[in-house]
This record gives sequence, C-alpha cells and structure tokens, in this order.
Amino acid sequence: MQRPVIHIIGAGLSGLSAAVALSQSPFDIVVHEASRQAGGRCRSYFDESMGMTIDNGNHLLLSGNKSTLAYVDAIGARHELRGPKRCEIAFADMASGERWTLRPNEGRLPWWLLVESRRVPRTRAADYLSVARLLRGPGQARVGDVMECSGPLYERLWGPFFLAALNTDPRGASAALAAAILRETLARGGRACHPLVAANGLSRAFVDPALKLLRRGGAQVRFERRLRALSFAEDRVAALEFEHDSIALGGQDMMVLATPAHIAATLVPGLSAPQTFNAILNAHFNIAPPANTPPILGVVNAKVQWLFAYPDHLSVTVSDANSLMETPREQLAADLWREVAGLTGLSDDLPSWRIIKERRATFAASPEEDARRPVRETKWPNLLLAGDYVQTGLPATIEGAVRSGQAAARSAMEWFGAV
Ligand SMILES: Cc1cc2nc3c(=O)[nH]c(=O)nc-3n(C[C@H](O)[C@H](O)[C@H](O)COP(=O)(O)OP(=O)(O)OC[C@H]3O[C@@H](n4cnc5c(N)ncnc54)[C@H](O)[C@@H]3O)c2cc1C
Repeated sequence: MQRPVIHIIGAGLSGLSAAVALSQSPFDIVVHEASRQAGGRCRSYFDESMGMTIDNGNHLLLSGNKSTLAYVDAIGARHELRGPKRCEIAFADMASGERWTLRPNEGRLPWWLLVESRRVPRTRAADYLSVARLLRGPGQARVGDVMECSGPLYERLWGPFFLAALNTDPRGASAALAAAILRETLARGGRACHPLVAANGLSRAFVDPALKLLRRGGAQVRFERRLRALSFAEDRVAALEFEHDSIALGGQDMMVLATPAHIAATLVPGLSAPQTFNAILNAHFNIAPPANTPPILGVVNAKVQWLFAYPDHLSVTVSDANSLMETPREQLAADLWREVAGLTGLSDDLPSWRIIKERRATFAASPEEDARRPVRETKWPNLLLAGDYVQTGLPATIEGAVRSGQAAARSAMEWFGAV
C-alpha cells in the first residue's frame, strides 16, 4: 500500500519544524521551497563584497523559547547557540554615555529588583511594578493604554525589550502580545532570559542540520518549487499547482502551507491574515570587534538599537525600520558606523559593509493585525496552516514559527489517527 504523503510548502522555520516533527511518522514527507535556499527569513548566505558568510538579520533567542530549543535539540544543533550562562544584557546610552548591565536573578522571585547595581540606572524597584498591568490588560488594548510609556525605565528597558520582540512601536502594539512575551521570559525569572545567538550563523543553527536530518530520514526537500495555486474539490484540496507541474493529492494526502502571510492570502480563498508588515534593517561591518565588546549590546538614544559582536564582524539591528527603507544604503552605513565606532572605540573609517533591508520582516504586532491571524485548521481538512502569522499567542518570532510548525505536525498526525 502507498504511504500517505504530507506536502509542506515553504522551508522557513515553520515548514522545517513541521517536517522535523513529522520525520519519525509513518508518512512520506515532501517539502517544496520556492527559492534556492531553505531558512526563509532566518538564513545565512555568503556575501561576496564582505567576503564572509553573514545572516540576513541578527536573531536573538532567549532560553525561555522552549519550542525552539526542542527543535534545535531534535536537529542536534544546540552547540551552535551561544550566550552567557546567566541573564546578563549590556546596555549603553548614546546620549549620556552611561553603561549598565541588566542582571535579573535566575529564579521567579525577582529579588534582583532590590539590588541597585542589577537594575536600570535611575530606576526604583517600585517602577517595575507598572509592567504587571500588561498581564491583566483587556484583549484589544495597546501597550500604551495599560502601562506608562515614558521615563527612564521605559526608555531603557521596556521600550527596547518590546520593540525587539514585537518589531512594532510598543506604544501602539498589542498588550496581549507584549504580555505573552513577558510571561514566557522575564516573568519566569532570569533562567528564561539567557540571551542566545547563532554563533556561526543562522543556517548552521536552524537550517542545515534540519535538512540533513530530513534527508537522512528519507524526506524529500525540493528547491525552486513555487506553489502557484491550489485546486479545490468539494471539501478538500485536490491538487498543488506548481510552475511547471501539478501534484494530485490522494484521499489520505495532506498539506501544510508554511509560506509567509501575504503569500498564503493569495493561495487560500477567503483567508484572514495580517496585512500590515514592519521592516527590520541590518547593517553588517567587516571588522573584528575589540576584545571587551559585549556579545549583545542594547543601545538607547541612537539609531543603532542592538549591536551584535561576532568573532569576525560587527552587526547592527534596527527594528520597526519602515521609515529607513528609502534612505540610501551608503548613508545608512555611514550613519550607523559613526555610532558603532563611538560605542566600540574603533576608528571612524568605514569598513566594508552590507545593509540588508527586510521590508516584510514581521507582521505589525498591533491589536488589529493580531485579530486577523488565522487558526491552523482550515475548512479543508487536508490543508493546515503554519507560519509566524498563524495564531500562536506570540508575535512573529522564531519561537512562534517553530511552535506553529510543531502544532501543524501534531494536527496532521491526529488527522491520520496516528496519535
Ligand atoms: C531581519 C529579521 C530579524 C529577525 N529577528 C528575530 C529575532 O531576533 N528573534 C526572533 O525570534 N525572530 C526574529 N525574526 C522573525 C523570524 O525570522 C520569523 O518569525 C521566522 O523566521 C518566520 O518563519 P516562517 O517559516 O513563518 O516564515 P518564512 O521564514 O518567511 O518562511 C516561508 C518560506 O516559504 C517560502 N515560500 C514563499 N512562497 C512560497 C511558495 N509560493 N511556494 C513555496 N515556497 C514558498 C519562502 O521562500 C520561505 O522560505 C526576524 C526576522 C527578520 C526578517
């Protein structure tokens, strides 16, 4: 008897995590990826002008990202993630020149708030209580409706923290999504907030080992396979229409559509999905960081928001960067380097650089866009959705993408009666 086939459309982290979760199942797995490379918005590539492999954008994980760590463990890549053994995040204020390191204690009881040297300078322990209001905010509220969005604590901690996690100005962002991040990280204590980065690039941590595992298990991963349309018959998807061929789905076959929201919306009739997206800008500089540069530095009162130090290059992230998308790359590189030179003590001479503008980096994390997110089941039982835009309770993050892929895999198994 032929084994049922699960077709996964898209080899970003949602598609890969669905495929990995299904790799031990009694089904044939076929992943179809439109581009020549897997990883989607989380990938590395060799950059000719830099002469090195770089990431499309710096990605920060926290040790509380449980689903992602389970995925990384499943593909045998935990050693690729590096970071301090405790929650320690260095910050610099470009305006005042102040430097500090945020150091929450490991356990849930937040005694670190009582220790001045562990807190943000010029804040009092009582100031931190304001964030608790987020956890009780009504469903459609914005962060700005429920908590104070000004003053030293907001400017030096909550603003940068939520901006990085939501890729949206926190004041107008969904309080529910901000609260979800808080619940899974800081509210669980420093233990859930150890920062982690892919030391040798995103593909080595999240993508290449997954492809290897899938191929070893007999799954097929096909590149340059762009799904153009779906054919529907009564209550099911009947065929996948690619550029040069089509695949009929048998009665037992199924598909997981793991494309970004704007592509899924063109393929699935009547799909409700986020429609507004925010950009992220990354600037990579081909210069080794000075020895004392922290691996991750949060920066306030500057264009640079986060500075990542890799062994052979420095890299800047600017979130919610829609307003910078039309600025010429040369100007962005020069402006950002001036700040990086000031922060690191390096010379003002601009090293070779690469600016990467990801225009649709994530959906805007507003209450309106959050409300548009679909659930993973569709009215066609053999069509499941995965992706960071599907309802996961989290903003568009690696953790959300991986969780959606793993959940789609579970639903597929249930559909087959395999669990
Ligand atoms: C610059 C940047 C920085 C980020 N920083 C962080 C961070 O620090 N921490 C964090 O947690 N998250 C971060 N994110 C978000 C994170 O990268 C995404 O949430 C996650 O990678 C999304 O995965 P996905 O599988 O849902 O979608 P995608 O990665 O977009 O994958 C979808 C895949 O589908 C393919 N595809 C599209 N159309 C078709 C088609 N018709 N047929 C076949 N295949 C198709 C695409 O080529 C792609 O490979 C960042 C994102 C960006 C862009």
